[in-house]
Amino acid sequence: MIQPTSLLELTKTELTARLAAWGAPRYRADQVWEWVYKKLATDAAEMTNLPVALREQLAAELPITPLTVAAERRSQDNQTIKWLFRLPDGQTIETVLMLYDQRQTVCISTQVGCAMGCVFCATGQAGLARNLSAGEIVAQVLAAARWLAGRQETADAAHDQSAQPGPASANQRLTNIVVMGMGEPFANYERTWAALRTLTDPQAFGLGARHITVSTVGLPQGIRKMAEEPLQLNLAVSLHAANDTLRTQLVPINHRYPIAEVMAAVRDYIGRTKRRVTFEYALMHRINDSPAHARELSGLLKGLLCHVNLIPLNPVAESPYQPATPENAAAFQQILAARGIPATVRLRRGLDIDAGCGQLRRRMNN
Ligand code: SF4
Repeated sequence: MIQPTSLLELTKTELTARLAAWGAPRYRADQVWEWVYKKLATDAAEMTNLPVALREQLAAELPITPLTVAAERRSQDNQTIKWLFRLPDGQTIETVLMLYDQRQTVCISTQVGCAMGCVFCATGQAGLARNLSAGEIVAQVLAAARWLAGRQETADAAHDQSAQPGPASANQRLTNIVVMGMGEPFANYERTWAALRTLTDPQAFGLGARHITVSTVGLPQGIRKMAEEPLQLNLAVSLHAANDTLRTQLVPINHRYPIAEVMAAVRDYIGRTKRRVTFEYALMHRINDSPAHARELSGLLKGLLCHVNLIPLNPVAESPYQPATPENAAAFQQILAARGIPATVRLRRGLDIDAGCGQLRRRMNN
């Protein structure tokens, strides 16, 4: 008996070879690819232009998604949806969809857990279980895209019934991906990039590379490798502190890759790609949010082609790490701005649904 593999694990070439081995003509792979990545099918039974026997073989040997929904939470304002997905081996991961006026952004995971151990992060506290496969990474994006497509259909149906003139509803396509969920993408580099190649391939999901941001805790070799990639993705580096003593306390991997090494890799990246880098800075009350910290950060980033995202921390229950006050966040941003460092205080999303990384998973596992 053949062990089923998710179809999302296959490249187009691999799928074509598999279908050829089943005796199907070459164009069947194009049809399947379109059903999976353009029409967002969840089941081979939907592929009505395929012979029934082929649909049945696909369903038995190449089921589409490796994910099942273990939990779903929606924020009260309906602007943030968080899923806990169960994987075939019983492990769970988190995926978050954030709805803005003009953007629909999904935040995806690349590992089950994380080995980086950031002290303020629920995922980091749970440790690493395993890497995700490329298909498990792609599947999160398709799940979010399907959810949006379902919402669009509902809006269209309501519009038809109301018989009102004008556009039915706002565009509900997925517009952005941030690789910022559970795990460190550069610690699972090859599978993450295999997934990103599929997600940007015009014949597959086809999202523009410039709409995708990869966020790292700051692994220098990963930053340099990304600079060599043909895909024009955005890079975000989670800094959280501008001196090694504090950063090692907050982000223990800093002990191995201190700030000077991270910044050298970032400079190489900017020199090679000419692209702006985003620095993520989780603002924590009385930990890293003082005017002195802001001045130190502006000194570190002076002259760099960069932008700083200041994110008041999502509070974790019983954690000594709590969010900076709005006043401190605003003062921090103004100090950076006065020194020529562009910075934005980001809104926290979905506080009522455990939107911080790893929080829903931890709650469901307890
Ligand atoms: S913040 Fe990111 S890198 Fe740090 S432990 Fe959490 S998931 Fe890992």
